[in-house]
Amino acid sequence: MKGSWVRAWLRYAGEAAKIMRLVFLGAPGVGKGTQADKAAVHYRIRKISTGDVLREAVRNQSSLGREAKEHMDQGRLVPDSVVIGLVQERLADPSCENGFILDGFPRTVPQADALGKVLVERSLPLDRVINFRVSREEIVKRLSGRRSCPKCQATYHLEFAPSKRGNLCERCGEALAQRSDDQREAIEMRLRVYEEQTAPLIDFYEKRQVLSHLNGAEAVDTVYHNLLKALETSQTA
Ligand code: AMP
Repeated sequence: MKGSWVRAWLRYAGEAAKIMRLVFLGAPGVGKGTQADKAAVHYRIRKISTGDVLREAVRNQSSLGREAKEHMDQGRLVPDSVVIGLVQERLADPSCENGFILDGFPRTVPQADALGKVLVERSLPLDRVINFRVSREEIVKRLSGRRSCPKCQATYHLEFAPSKRGNLCERCGEALAQRSDDQREAIEMRLRVYEEQTAPLIDFYEKRQVLSHLNGAEAVDTVYHNLLKALETSQTA
């Protein structure tokens, strides 16, 4: 009995310690950030979200933040040169040695080329690219109802995960806010930008035989279960 428990634990620990280098692809609002958080804990690897890095820079009013803000507010992409530099810096950090999940990067073909170059230079194979698919209608519903706390960054949804304190943050009592890029016009722009600039990456990674598709419209736990299954069964060297 005890032996089987120990074997199960060793198998779990072995799996969780695998080095994984992953890219999570998909339109805004498909839930790739949520899944990246969970998978990063499971595999004990670093999650790099370019959206989070840029939002933090905007909050800190750094020169990067000032440059990025206007693009982000309108739902446009921040220039490739800026984002590529950010990711290169983070990939060189020792915390990425055990693997990483790139969430929201690459978003253009030049970004994907730059990533490929960095990984080849450092002899690091990309294990898998996961493409999360959700209908446009569902994406608009998810993004337009999203609210967050400007103070502690807790996130809510008017319909799917409302705050028990109405328009106030459950954790810290601050008034909740809508991200400027979650307003209707910006959502439309982000989806257009996705179709024009990011969707071509599906073909890009399909040709390199590292792509798996996942239905992102299911419940978070179901998507996560399918994600782990895809990662465990379809690894490339
Ligand atoms: P996200 O939270 O991933 O939806 O990103 C929010 C915003 O940050 C995007 O709408 C872009 O303005 C900017 N951004 C995030 N990642 C990238 C990227 N890889 N390339 C260019 N802009 C990005």
